[in-house]
Amino acid sequence: MTFLEPTSSFFLEDEHLAWSDAARIWVDGPGASFVATEDGRLETARAIVSSLGRAGLLAPLVAEDGAQALEVRSICVLREALGFASSLVDTQLVMQGLGSFALSLAGSASQRNQWLPRVARGEAVAAFALTEPEAGSDVAALQTRAERRGDEWVLSGRKTLISNAGLADFYLLFARTGEGEKRHQGISLFLLPADTPGLEIVPLELIAPHPIGELHLKECALPESALVGEEGRGFRLAMASLDLFRPTVGAAACGIAARALHETLSHVRARCQFGQALSSFQAVQAHLADMATELEAARLLVYRAAAVKDGGQARITREGSMAKLYATEAAFRIVDTAVQLRGGRGLVRGEVVERLYREVRALRIYEGTSDVQKLIIAGSVLEATSG
Ligand SMILES: Cc1cc2nc3c(=O)[nH]c(=O)nc-3n(C[C@H](O)[C@H](O)[C@H](O)COP(=O)(O)OP(=O)(O)OC[C@H]3O[C@@H](n4cnc5c(N)ncnc54)[C@H](O)[C@@H]3O)c2cc1C
Repeated sequence: MTFLEPTSSFFLEDEHLAWSDAARIWVDGPGASFVATEDGRLETARAIVSSLGRAGLLAPLVAEDGAQALEVRSICVLREALGFASSLVDTQLVMQGLGSFALSLAGSASQRNQWLPRVARGEAVAAFALTEPEAGSDVAALQTRAERRGDEWVLSGRKTLISNAGLADFYLLFARTGEGEKRHQGISLFLLPADTPGLEIVPLELIAPHPIGELHLKECALPESALVGEEGRGFRLAMASLDLFRPTVGAAACGIAARALHETLSHVRARCQFGQALSSFQAVQAHLADMATELEAARLLVYRAAAVKDGGQARITREGSMAKLYATEAAFRIVDTAVQLRGGRGLVRGEVVERLYREVRALRIYEGTSDVQKLIIAGSVLEATSG
């Protein structure tokens, strides 16, 4: 065990750390071809999910035995280990969790039985469809409508930036079913199978491989049983899902940062300028110290948030936002320094740090931007200290 691996043993038990070994066995074995290339095709993404499922790595992400059964520290350790290897693989892993968690929380027995075992085995791909063109940070502004017509729900609207669009077998999709006193009260959650007539997918291409796109819903008719949980409770389910998965984004960021540090340490030892290894210059050493310290600080916040959740605290809104905010911002700085210390080669396609530079960018945006995390943290701090 080195400090390049998830070692915050202060918060981790052997049962959590074992997932790091399991991930490494997959990366060196069945996953080797997936982490070696940047193949963003949908069929490759599906093959990754299948392979992760066969290796048993999706099981900690899917709460088949009820939402309380998830160990967030196990998910974090897995995400850190896979983020070290490939952000595409990490994305395919976590979407099986984020795209199914609300079903574990509120789905009917038939919804859960139909989908959760297949999601956990990597035989069905899940997605979480919340964001809309006019409702990003302000998710309560969403406009996609679900109208009751007889014994059906009819959905119309547009979702954007939905991971696994075009790949997923079903979408957990949030739509407006009423107005309510407050905007978020009129939002409900639906289980939308990918083969529903009226659903059109428009793919989007990002700077690093990531299956993503828009969903255009034109009068998509669903049976009454497609409602997940109670009508008007969708916003709570969305927030509960994000609450649990936000610290795990921080864990993925730690994996990317650890990889950047790993690549940098090799490089500064091998590269000589002015007749000396770069690692012998104190200015370079100061960068290494900052990278290593920020990585450890990020881990402490991530694994603390996860441990608090695993300890039974119902919501970890403040802890999770702090972990996501700090870890993703730190990872961005660490990767940027890695590129800088690699010199001009750091910008060349095919270099690991060049890939990390593109991969790390999304983490400061998805599941709530850094600005939004600050709003959440400040709101929580103000509330906790009022009166
Ligand atoms: C790789 C990737 C994967 C994604 N996957 C999914 C997915 O699977 N499902 C899904 O539903 N969504 C997904 N998203 C969407 C993501 O959640 C949104 O992009 C994100 O919430 C921000 O919304 P927006 O892009 O509309 O930006 P906006 O909300 O328009 O924000 C633009 C800028 O304004 C800032 N801003 C906004 N409001 C405030 C404020 N009150 N105070 C200060 N600053 C503010 C933001 O911080 C940001 O810098 C994904 C996005 C990415 C990049």
